[in-house]
Amino acid sequence: MMLPVLAVDGVRAFPPRVTEFTLRFWQGLASGHFETTRCDDCTRLTFPPKPFCPHCWSERIVWVPLCGRGILYSQTVVHAAPAVFRDEVPYRVGIVDLHEGLRIATRVLASDEPRLDTAVEIVVLSYRDGPMFVARPLSRAGLT
Ligand SMILES: [Zn+2]
Repeated sequence: MMLPVLAVDGVRAFPPRVTEFTLRFWQGLASGHFETTRCDDCTRLTFPPKPFCPHCWSERIVWVPLCGRGILYSQTVVHAAPAVFRDEVPYRVGIVDLHEGLRIATRVLASDEPRLDTAVEIVVLSYRDGPMFVARPLSRAGLT
């Protein structure tokens, strides 16, 4: 499943450090692909993607697509941010349980406070200098 990609006229406040290994994740994300790594030995998923399995330390890793849908598990609004994000306050961050069983931390885009357990989708913000992923409540329109 491809994620929605929304153009943003600006640059990322805190660009991710892209390594040779994570280049695939960030290049895929730019075109709406949301992927992570799965261990070929113990079959567990990891997010963010890693070149080894943090559960059994295997280096037999495969890339797998994620559906980009989940449930909002927890959230908070940041008013006192680290210096690099100071121009963006207040902003909402949350913990999302993806349908694949991964629990991830992400920025949350919402005009008002979503209830916990709200269905969310991951969307790509396409900044001038590269992509970032965020979660937003899944609209009723998005379900049809
Ligand atoms: Zn493993």
